[in-house]
Amino acid sequence: MHLCECGSPLLVRYDLQQVKASFQREALQSRSHSLWRYEELLPIDDPEGVVSLGENMTPLLALEKLGQELGVPRLFLKDEGALPTGTFKARGAAIGVSRAKELGVSILVMPTNGNAGGAWAAYCAAAGIQAVIVMPESAPVMNWKECTLAGASLYLVNGLISDAGKIVARAISEYGWYDASTLKEPYRIEGKKTMGLELIEQLGWRVPDVILYPTGGGVGIIGIYKVIKELQEIGQLDGRLPRMVAVQSTGCAPIVKAWEQGKSESEFWENAHTAAFGITVPKALGDFLVLEAIYETEGCAIAVDDKEILEAQRQLASRQGLLVCPEGAATLCAAARLAQTGWIKKEDEVVLFNTGTGLKYPETVEANPEVLEPEDSLPG
Ligand SMILES: *Cc1c(COP(=O)(O)O)cnc(C)c1O
Repeated sequence: MHLCECGSPLLVRYDLQQVKASFQREALQSRSHSLWRYEELLPIDDPEGVVSLGENMTPLLALEKLGQELGVPRLFLKDEGALPTGTFKARGAAIGVSRAKELGVSILVMPTNGNAGGAWAAYCAAAGIQAVIVMPESAPVMNWKECTLAGASLYLVNGLISDAGKIVARAISEYGWYDASTLKEPYRIEGKKTMGLELIEQLGWRVPDVILYPTGGGVGIIGIYKVIKELQEIGQLDGRLPRMVAVQSTGCAPIVKAWEQGKSESEFWENAHTAAFGITVPKALGDFLVLEAIYETEGCAIAVDDKEILEAQRQLASRQGLLVCPEGAATLCAAARLAQTGWIKKEDEVVLFNTGTGLKYPETVEANPEVLEPEDSLPG
């Protein structure tokens, strides 16, 4: 069990005074272009023993054409699709599995909507840890396949991630396996926070005005907010905060509902369903931390519908050449909406997080090209 006695998540704390005294930006120059470069702010005892699949720094791309059209000329996209297993879940898995290995874990178990399962299965394969993964039957088929191929024990549940979570909880109490559920071990978030660290370094050690993030379990937002605070404490950032925006789907928007009602916790969302499968989380364990990050940064939460999401996915591909996942596309819809209402201003520097590659979601894309016979000619 890796929760507080009160049932809440535990967060990793560092001796930030000591880090402050020793941390030097210049030292990063000679380090690898990967999340491992931030070793002072990672919970790893032995950097030599880590499990790595090549977590390169991901590009921060200017969306010039779409930015102009939306009236947000300083619009950027951080493209996490370039990571191992195709999503930012690799960051959490790299640190989470490395730490599990340090702790001597031999079997770990987790519920997932798919991408975390794929990432943890891959890193566990590399680490020699047995992964037991439970995901909804409706998860993207690619996620089943990558888990199976990586040698994980995969089970599908006729239900949602919350149902998978219940099955996992029973297995843990029965067999004593290591619980790798979101926020039930404190290390995954340390990996995910490196998204924020990287962004800040890429911007020259400052934050943008607005960050839009597709929010499911909320670890991404919590992690980015956590690392901003850490960087402030070690004197690497001034006190300015980016307005953080949690983007959800109208088919599953518990955080949006809670934010609209000014609440500090969300309620279970019934009959959750969206094409942006990775953000189908009806009730997140860390919902109160996500809401805190939104309130503290004067951000907001916004829901967009599947039709808009798929249209935004097409736009990003046809206008900018980027094949993003539906979750990532949702952030573009949200930015468009917030620019329309004036919440995002023309001079704001805005960063969208594309959390994964669209290649993992062939079933969300419609394409009906014409089939030719060998003797046919092209219409010209
Ligand atoms: C898991 C996932 C999310 C949600 O991330 P959280 O940090 O859990 O809120 C968003 N997009 C994709 C593609 C995901 O796999």
